[in-house]
Amino acid sequence: MRIRLQDVGYEKRTVAGELPASVLGLGTESDAEHVRDIGPISCRLTVYEAAGQLIVEGEVRTRARFRCSRCDEFFSMEIGEPDIRLAPEIGKNDEFADLTADIRESILLRFPAFPVCREDCPGLCPQCGIRRAEAACDCRRPSDQRWAALDGLQPSGTAEQEQ
Ligand SMILES: [Zn+2]
Ligand SMILES: [Zn+2]
Repeated sequence: MRIRLQDVGYEKRTVAGELPASVLGLGTESDAEHVRDIGPISCRLTVYEAAGQLIVEGEVRTRARFRCSRCDEFFSMEIGEPDIRLAPEIGKNDEFADLTADIRESILLRFPAFPVCREDCPGLCPQCGIRRAEAACDCRRPSDQRWAALDGLQPSGTAEQEQ
């Protein structure tokens, strides 16, 4: 997304547009394990000049399908930066300010590290792998007996047992 510097003045001006998802540079197979169907990045920016500096403020957002870190299902979510503020470096002879790299970074920073399809997603059964949101299973938690046996094992010479 480029801003023509000639058009920038002290008066605030709104610039709206879209960037293709490809600017994020996420196209590999391993990316697709985590995020798919990234939509175009929509930008709504206010540009103006202050103290000889180009100021860019506004909002950038997109929508994508992320893999839930609990149940492995892909779900759609909007991400973005509602309050972007940039003061890009401008070269003496530049005609345009290119905001693409800054916008890319703002969006990537908003990618969730542990996306969840919903706050209370119950995830997968650790034993049979069933999606607990969809079905129940008969797996039991490891019996108390087994844990009791583990409790008897003390790491040698380390932490004191808290009772
Ligand atoms: Zn989930
Ligand atoms: Zn199970």
